[in-house]
Amino acid sequence: MTEDRDEKAEGAPPCVICGMRPQVPEYRPFCSRRCADVDLHRWLGGVYAIPVKPEEEEDEGDATG
Ligand SMILES: [Zn+2]
Repeated sequence: MTEDRDEKAEGAPPCVICGMRPQVPEYRPFCSRRCADVDLHRWLGGVYAIPVKPEEEEDEGDATG
C-alpha cells in the first residue's frame, strides 16, 4: 500500500533546487522557472539574491572625428 500518489509527475525526478516535483516539464529538471534561475545564478556567481540593476548604456552617438 502506497500513500504517495504520483499523478502529476510519474517517474519524474524531484526538483534539484527545492525538491518538489516538477510541474512544468518546460523547466525540468526544475519545478518552475524560479528554481531554474536559482541554479543559473549559482553558476554565475553563487549568489542567491542578485540585485537587479539597470544596465548603464552609454549613449555615445557621436562617433565621428
Ligand atoms: Zn523547485
